[in-house]
Formats: sequence, C-alpha cells, structure tokens
Amino acid sequence: MAAPFAYPNHWGIHKRMNFADLGLSPDLLAAVADAGYTEPTPIQAQAIPPVLMMKDIIGIAQTGTGKTASFVLPMIDIMASGRRRALMPRSLILAPTRELAAQVAENFEKYGKNHDLKLALLIGGVQMGDQVKALNEGVDVLIATPGRLMDLFERGKILLNGCELLVIDEADRMLDMGFIPDIEFICDKLPENRQTMLFSATMPPPIEKLAKKFLKSPKRIEVSRAATTNKDITAFKVPVKSRQKRETLRWLLRHDHVETAIIFANRKTTVRELNKSLQSHGFASSEIHGDMDQSSRLKELDRFKKGEVNILVASDVAARGLDIKGVSHVFNFDTPWHPDDYVHRIGRTGRAGAKGRAFTFVAEEDGEAIANVEKLTGKEIPVFGKKDVRVELVEPSKEEDRPRREERKAREDRPERSERSERPARPKPERKAEDKPAKARKPRRDDAREDERGKPGEWNGPVPGFLEVSAG
Ligand code: ADP
Ligand code: MG
Repeated sequence: MAAPFAYPNHWGIHKRMNFADLGLSPDLLAAVADAGYTEPTPIQAQAIPPVLMMKDIIGIAQTGTGKTASFVLPMIDIMASGRRRALMPRSLILAPTRELAAQVAENFEKYGKNHDLKLALLIGGVQMGDQVKALNEGVDVLIATPGRLMDLFERGKILLNGCELLVIDEADRMLDMGFIPDIEFICDKLPENRQTMLFSATMPPPIEKLAKKFLKSPKRIEVSRAATTNKDITAFKVPVKSRQKRETLRWLLRHDHVETAIIFANRKTTVRELNKSLQSHGFASSEIHGDMDQSSRLKELDRFKKGEVNILVASDVAARGLDIKGVSHVFNFDTPWHPDDYVHRIGRTGRAGAKGRAFTFVAEEDGEAIANVEKLTGKEIPVFGKKDVRVELVEPSKEEDRPRREERKAREDRPERSERSERPARPKPERKAEDKPAKARKPRRDDAREDERGKPGEWNGPVPGFLEVSAG
C-alpha cells in the first residue's frame, strides 16, 4: 500500500480515516485506489457519509482541499441505482466556468470507471449538437455552466423535473460572475423533493441567502475558517512601482527557484501583454483568459499541465478552481480587486500538502485592494525581502556591462505602452540547447553565464528597488 497521505494539522483532523470507512461501494473504492488516493481529505471524510444518507450539505473549504471528490464519489454510488430517461437528467452539477465543469466531468470519468453512468457536459464554446444528442439518449449526470443550461432549457431541449440531485459548485464564484439569478431560476425548475449540495471556499451573505432559500435543513461542514489561507503557502507582498512590475516579476521568476508559476492579472489586456512580454524575454509562458474560445483555453492549460510551458498568465475567471498540480509559485501581478479572489489565486499553490510561495505586487493603485485582502484574511502579509529572502542577490557586477545595463534600465523605465510598440524590433534571446524550455532557468549559475555572453533581452540590471523598501 502506498504511504498514507499526511494531512497538515490545519485541516483540523488528527484521526486517520480511510475511504473504506465512509460507506462507499467496493467498485468505487477500487477506482479511488487506482487514482492513488489513500486517505480522504477532511471535507471528503465529513461530507461523504451525510451525502450518502441523502442529506442537504453546505461544504465550505478552501481551494485545493478536494471538494470535487466529496460530492462526485457519493454521487456515483447514489446514481448507480435508478434508470435514465430521455431529456430528463437525473442529477445536475452547476459549475461557474467551462474549465471547472470539464474538471468535474474528468473526476466522474476517473472514479466512475467501474460504473455504468452517462454524463453530459453542457458548456459554452462547444458544439451544441452532441450535447443535445446525449440528452436525448438520457443522462445520469449533467454537468453544466448556468448560461448554457438556461439556453437549452429555454429552447425546450431539456426537462429538469426528473432531477433529484443538485450540486452548486464554487458558489462564491457564481456570485462574482453574476450567476445567482440563473441559479435561482434553475432551482425553481427542479423538483421540490431533491437533494441539494452547495460547495464554496467562502460564504458571502448572498450565498448564505441562496442556501437558505434552496437547501432543506442542510448539514454545514466547514473545514477551516473561510477566507483563511493555507499554512503551506508562504505569502509575501512586494511593494513596487507600476512600471517596475514586469522587471520585478522577471527578477523573481529567475531568483526564487520557480518551477511552475501562475501569474494572475486583473485585466485581460494585461494578461495578453504580460505573456508576450515574458515570451520576448525568453520565458516559456502561455496565457489563459475569458476572451479565448474553449478549445484554445483547454489547449493552453494542457500545455501547462504537460510542462511544455512552466508559466501560465491568467485572469481570475479563466483560472478559478482549475486543478493544476504542483504549482510552486503564484504571482499576483495586480492585487485582486475582490479579496476572495486572493484566497482563490494563492490556493493554486500549496495544494494537497505541497509547499508553495505566493507574491502579491502592490503598487500605489493596489493600496485599497491589499487592505481589503488583509482585512479578509485577518493578517498582514509580510513584505518580501524583510525576513525571508531565500536566494542570494546577484551583484550588479562587471564594469564592462555598465553601459548596456544603463541603456536597458532606461528602456525598462519607459511606460508599458512604448515597450509594446517597440516589441517587434526587439531581438528574441536565443536559448541554450541544454536549456529546457519548460523550466524557468535556475538562477545564479545560468545568469552568470548569460552575463558573460552578453545576451540581449536578458536581465542584467541592478537588484530591483522593491528589496530596499523599508516601510511595511
Ligand atoms: P477544491 O475543489 O477543493 O479546490 P479539488 O477537488 O480540485 O479541490 O482537489 C484538489 C486536488 O487534490 C486535486 O488535484 C485532487 O486530485 C487532489 N485530491 C483530492 N482528493 C484527494 C485525496 N483524498 N488524496 C490526495 N489528493 C486528493
Ligand atoms: Mg472545486
């Protein structure tokens, strides 16, 4: 048997649990074992038994704590009995984004491989024909984004009155995305007599209201205080001038032992421009944001998961809840406007017990946002460079490099706009043959070599000013 998964204490249980203790069927336990899971996470341990007893559930646990399996596993056993009927899905899972819905479907496929269950995935950006065909043939589990479901419902292509089980996943994100009216509409179309589960990382008041309206004496399972952040994540804030954000980011990418990173920005345009800028500096990066169609989003995500690129620049909507394992770093290129997004963003690292680091850039215009984040999380985020500087700083050395350095500095200091317009003319740094494209370069040794060869487009400037900032 594989070594038991060690749960950090902050997850709140000290007793070791087995999946076999939870009342799941042998076929399902076999699939779980094949997936490599040896122990349920706390939300799974607490949610699975009452879900199997057909109770309504509110599950609150931070991102990355395994909420998906806490409803997918019991649902597989519940759905195992009963019959499919055309146009009338037997259960419904609502997820806020296409990626999240696709991820839930993947979970069903993984754990449901020993069961005969029919799934349909109803998401925007995918041909509707196949989805309608699947519905006609009858499905056990319908996984949908609210928009697409409303679409089909209004065209009479789907009946919701045979749906005896509803899951509202990532409810707080639904709220951010304005889906609450859609969810209310959908809930009203479902039979009164049904089981309802709601999962969320945080419980803002409108979600409490929604739960009160549509759940029947739910069992509330709260794994750790909402909006606290994971102890496996070392978080820093980095005071920086707006125009030095890119330079500072590159410095950190090269000097903080970055293996894989997600960089969040508040605006789609920033995501696009930042990705281009990183690529022009020789980083293996890609982007994901709400303006991309479904297939390119999944393609980029796949490239990241496979390690073809090790840096993903993302917007909140595109990245919410995405299950990306082993991300060593999260960078908030902007402090998120909604403090809940902070929790979700940095939850991309430090998942399932692994350690991670999160850096939040704070320029003048981020001042109010960071105050809100610290209010929500209940603690001040330490300033990077004051206590934990893991790496030695590279000295700005070599006299002969000085003119180039100064020329470069002048270029860097220009506003972002000019960098954009001059980009086509900038030479792309050629990559060393032994340089794995998927890995951010291990900093010091490579940088020293880089310096000797005087490659264009690479960092050679002074240590960024943020390390000298003295005010907390
Ligand atoms: P959440 O929905 O709470 O953000 P997910 O359901 O996406 O979290 O799960 C987070 C990660 O933890 C996934 O990579 C998942 O495969 C993994 N995971 C889930 N349950 C377990 C478990 N019991 N043991 C180990 N890893 C798990
Ligand atoms: Mg989730």
